[in-house]
Amino acid sequence: MNDTARRFYAERDARTLQYGANATALARPIAVLVATDATSRPAQVAALALVNMLARVHRRIHLVVPTDDLRARALVDAPTLADAMVATVTSINPVLALTTARTPTSIPADAITIGIGTELPQQLDFYLGWHGGRGEIATAPCPASSTTEEEHLLGAATAACLAATMAFRAAHGNAVRPTRLNPLERTADADAGTTSRTGPVDVGNVLVVGAGAVSQALFYWLREIGVVGQWDVVDGDLAELHNTNRCLGMTADDAGWPNALPHGEPRHKAIITAELTGAQPHPHWYDTWPNLADGPRYDIVLPLANERDVRAQIAALGQPVLLHASTSSNWTAELHRHIPDRDDCPACRIPTAQTSSFLCGTGPANPTNPGSPDAALPFLSATAGLLLAASLLEIQKESQLITGRQNHWRLHLELGHRLWQSAIHLNNGCPHALPPAARQILHASAPGRWGSIDPAV
Ligand SMILES: [Zn+2]
Repeated sequence: MNDTARRFYAERDARTLQYGANATALARPIAVLVATDATSRPAQVAALALVNMLARVHRRIHLVVPTDDLRARALVDAPTLADAMVATVTSINPVLALTTARTPTSIPADAITIGIGTELPQQLDFYLGWHGGRGEIATAPCPASSTTEEEHLLGAATAACLAATMAFRAAHGNAVRPTRLNPLERTADADAGTTSRTGPVDVGNVLVVGAGAVSQALFYWLREIGVVGQWDVVDGDLAELHNTNRCLGMTADDAGWPNALPHGEPRHKAIITAELTGAQPHPHWYDTWPNLADGPRYDIVLPLANERDVRAQIAALGQPVLLHASTSSNWTAELHRHIPDRDDCPACRIPTAQTSSFLCGTGPANPTNPGSPDAALPFLSATAGLLLAASLLEIQKESQLITGRQNHWRLHLELGHRLWQSAIHLNNGCPHALPPAARQILHASAPGRWGSIDPAV
């Protein structure tokens, strides 16, 4: 490794190492093989998302990709899938040790090998598959499904998240664990059905507070799924190189490190995030945002920031429902629902002072710095963003997500015995939420699309 690479990794990988990764494992090559029969849009979405996540932590990647025309909306535009995959990984990591080939020859001997499609060698470590909203990783090639392509986007995105998780765990010495997951049903393994929804996400006018890793993942998936309505993204923060270890929309250049050197100007996270779907960026802190006092009332507010007491301020907006997603230092991606009176609020659920209070001893990578609650890995953030994207597709029809008692779902990406855990958090005298009468007045003055979800309206 040369000095440029050493300096780049020292700056970029602090959070990854805090999460417990070790540099030797990160240097193990990962080979991604896309079969000549994996030409569908879902296959391309899976391939691009997978290498996007891999390049944020792993340091050696080998790609075997046919030169099909690009049909997915890649992070970096290119004429073919192969070009888009190479442009994506090198923009994320300019010092990546990247090798490519047209056919499955010359794969590095100690590589972890991952296949997409069926026309592939039989002894790869694992293969991606999807059917409807269900994504999977398996130890044999998964046949592609023949129904409408858009039906399978959620499953393909899910498979990419599982594959990036498994690659990281395999690099750290864990055995491959075949897994099935449906982020819409919030089911796994034998219970995972093929329920799916197609885009675009159409939930009205949306305010997204925070443009960090979960927010970027949400927008990354919305870019593929499709989205309509006015979306505003507010965040005052600038990109830093160590954010690129988990922010799916962020390149090294965005963080002010073009060509792996710290000579550029970092860009605002709000702008980087909004660009993914053509949303409106607002590079301000939420609490000092000029639009806050006299701006429009939003149909949906997504609280995806945790600094500056943002959760308590958003809880006091009187929204009929708040949905958000988070990661923890405990290998989880989590989905949260907050309906006033029925549920607790985001500030009560995740107090600002809370850091990692429940370290788990069974993973290969354990967080060693509880003082850094934002340590995360790309597939955790990507999965949290996908859970949130799925929830926005889900609420467009009558759904358990709104009518059920459960309001908190944890997905354990250690991929142990049981993947999902759900919980019910009741409102125990929350001091943040508006009283029913105040919410009724707000709703009467500016009725929002989801007002009927509020039990007081
Ligand atoms: Zn509260």
